[in-house]
Amino acid sequence: MKILVVNAGSSSLKYQLIDMENENVLAKGLCERIGDTGAITHKTADGRKYEADIPMPTHTDAFNCLVEALTSEEYGVIKSMKEISAVGHRIVQGGAIFDRSVLVDEKVIEDIYNLAELAPLHNKAHVQGIRACIECLGKDAPQVVVFDTAFHQTMPAKSFMYAIPYEMYEKYKIRRYGFHGTSHRYVSGVMTDILGKVEGTKIITCHLGNGSSISAVKDGKVIDTTMGFTPLAGVEMGTRCGDIDPAVVTYIMDKEGFTPDEMSNFMNKKCGFLGVSGFSSDGRDLEEAIANGPSDPRYERAKLAVDILIQDVKKYIGSFVAEMNGVDAIVFTAGIGENNTHIRGEVCAEMECFGIELDKELNEKTLCQSDVVKISTENSKVDVYVIPTNEELVIARDTLALINQ
Ligand code: ADP
Repeated sequence: MKILVVNAGSSSLKYQLIDMENENVLAKGLCERIGDTGAITHKTADGRKYEADIPMPTHTDAFNCLVEALTSEEYGVIKSMKEISAVGHRIVQGGAIFDRSVLVDEKVIEDIYNLAELAPLHNKAHVQGIRACIECLGKDAPQVVVFDTAFHQTMPAKSFMYAIPYEMYEKYKIRRYGFHGTSHRYVSGVMTDILGKVEGTKIITCHLGNGSSISAVKDGKVIDTTMGFTPLAGVEMGTRCGDIDPAVVTYIMDKEGFTPDEMSNFMNKKCGFLGVSGFSSDGRDLEEAIANGPSDPRYERAKLAVDILIQDVKKYIGSFVAEMNGVDAIVFTAGIGENNTHIRGEVCAEMECFGIELDKELNEKTLCQSDVVKISTENSKVDVYVIPTNEELVIARDTLALINQ
C-alpha cells in the first residue's frame, strides 16, 4: 500500500510518497511559489531528480504537477494515482475539536476552515490542499488529516489556561494549544519503546529547529508544552522571540508605531537568532561565528543568541522535571536537536543535580545521523537520546490505520 503525505502551505506544497510495506519513501518533492511563478523539485529514492519552473496559479495546479511527477515515465515511481491508497494531510491547528487524526469529510473540512481564525496562514492553505486533492483524485479518494495540536490535547486546564479573564477563553478560545505535536508524539513513542513501557514514564522531548518547542510527556501523554496559543511562545527560535514580558509588546508597538499585524510580523520574523545576532536565523551560521572566536566581529552576538536558547531550554527542562516530579529521559530532535552538538552539550552541562550526565565524546560524534543514539553516560540517572523525528511517517501510519478501520 502506498500513502501520499501532503503538507500544504500558503504558497508551497510538500509531499512524500511512502510505501507502507516497508515504510520506505519512494519519492518526495516540493511545489513552491504557488499563486506566483511556480516551481517543482521532485526526487526519487533511486536518485532521479526533476526540477522545473511551471506556472501554478492555484493549489490544484500544484497538485496536478505532483501527480505528473509521480506518474511520469522518466521521474515517476507509480504508473497511476490509483496505486495510492490514501492521502494524509498535515494540519497545523486542530483547536480543541481534534484530539486525534480523522478521515476527511465535508464537516471536517468546514471545522478546519473555521479554525483558520486561530492559524490564519496555515489552516486556509491546508483546506486548499485538501480541495485540490479532491479535484485531482476525485471525492472518493480517502483522505486523512493529522493535527500538530492533537497530541497536546491531553494537557490539564492548569497547563493550557492563561491567567486572563475566563471570558477570553470562552469568547475567543484563547488558551495554550501547543504545536509540533506529531513530532513530540513520534519521538516520545520511540522513547517509550526503548524504556519498554508507557505507564510510569516521564519524558522531556526537545524539538529544536527553526521553530522549537519542548514537551513534558508523562505516561505517554503531554502534560505541558512550551508553545502556546500560537507557535510564537516558548524558547527562542530562528526568527521568533519566544516568551517575552507581554508589556514589551505594547511598549515596542507604541515606540515604533507598529500596527498589530506589523508587531506580529516583527515577533515572528525579526526576532530570535536573527534579531539577537543581527546576521542570521540559522544555527549553523551562528556556530561558525562562535567557532571563529572573538576576532570575528559577529562572535559576541552570535554567542549571546545561542546562549539565550541554551538558557531557555535548561529552564524548561528544570520546570518540567518539577512538574513531573522527575524525568527518565530527555530527547533531542529536529535540525538543531539532531545536529547541533554545542547546544545539546551546553543544555546538558551542569545538570548533575537532576542526575543528567552527558557522554561528551558521544555527543560530539552524534550529528547528521538517521539512527537513534543514546548520548548520556552509563552512570547518568536520566537517559539522554537523539531521535531523528519523522512527522511524515506518523501521518502515513495514521492514514493507513484510519482507512483500514
Ligand atoms: P524547521 O523547523 O524549519 O523544520 P529544521 O528542523 O530543519 O527546521 O531546523 C533548522 C535548524 O537546524 C537551523 O538552525 C540549522 O542551523 C539547524 N541544522 C540543520 N542541519 C544542521 C547540521 N547539519 N548541523 C548543525 N545544525 C543544523
